[in-house]
Amino acid sequence: MNLRFGIDLGGTKTEGVILDAEGRELLRERVATDSSGYEPVIGGIERLYRRMVDAVDGAPHSLGIGTPGAVSRRTGRLKNSNTTCLNGMPVGHDLRARLGRELAIENDANCFALAEALAGAGRGHRVVFGVIMGTGCGGGIVIDGKVHGGLQAIAGEWGHTVIDPAGPACYCGARGCVETFISGSGLEHRYAERAGSRRPVDEIVQASRAGDLAATATMDDFFARFGQAVANLIAVLDPDVIVLGGGLSNIDELYTRGVEAVRQRVFSDSLETPIVKHRLGDSAGVIGAALVGV
Ligand SMILES: [Zn+2]
Repeated sequence: MNLRFGIDLGGTKTEGVILDAEGRELLRERVATDSSGYEPVIGGIERLYRRMVDAVDGAPHSLGIGTPGAVSRRTGRLKNSNTTCLNGMPVGHDLRARLGRELAIENDANCFALAEALAGAGRGHRVVFGVIMGTGCGGGIVIDGKVHGGLQAIAGEWGHTVIDPAGPACYCGARGCVETFISGSGLEHRYAERAGSRRPVDEIVQASRAGDLAATATMDDFFARFGQAVANLIAVLDPDVIVLGGGLSNIDELYTRGVEAVRQRVFSDSLETPIVKHRLGDSAGVIGAALVGV
């Protein structure tokens, strides 16, 4: 039986996994991403892939690669990636040439949503929205066990919907994108605006629990923005479940204060939508990449 190889390209780390025919994990490897330029990123993927092939003595396998951004249906080049050195580059073409084989490329949030829909917290639900709140903020839609990519391959990209046109500048060129408020980098920036110095997310959350004024104000705003953004998304898609992933999904209050903020803003007489934490942990993205492989 064929093996499934998945590679998840992240801004700071690249992860590879090999699944057997029953979906059991045979190997997992994590390396730092050298995102100093296009060639180091592509070369890093190639080296990881070759090590994975060696680990199974070249046994037959499929290959799927998860990446921030999406392949443009018009040009075949990558777009919308927060690893900006990849934007405009023919990533699929170059990887096929370097690795000498066919492969699938899928948006990382779509990979996350697919894995959680099939094997994690979204299992048993027909329409699953997967949210990644990490360095950036992405989203993916899975319907009947399949990724819904959309006409322009941007379905689910709620991180770059604008919720405050006068808000902070985003790398995408707009102002007040969801990502500028409810991503890790966004939260740290919003705190720094209030406090005058930057702290990591964990410290901001701890400080707010301890009553620190700047941290408390930052987190109050964070939950309000989360409520607005998720209520907007429910009004468009009305999914059967929303699964939260990425580093920020570990903030416990998201499932109490955050959900309450959604309830206050949702365009409905009640909020039925389960908003739940991921179940596959950090591994969802790379497992999803393995599942979409060809
Ligand atoms: Zn944006």
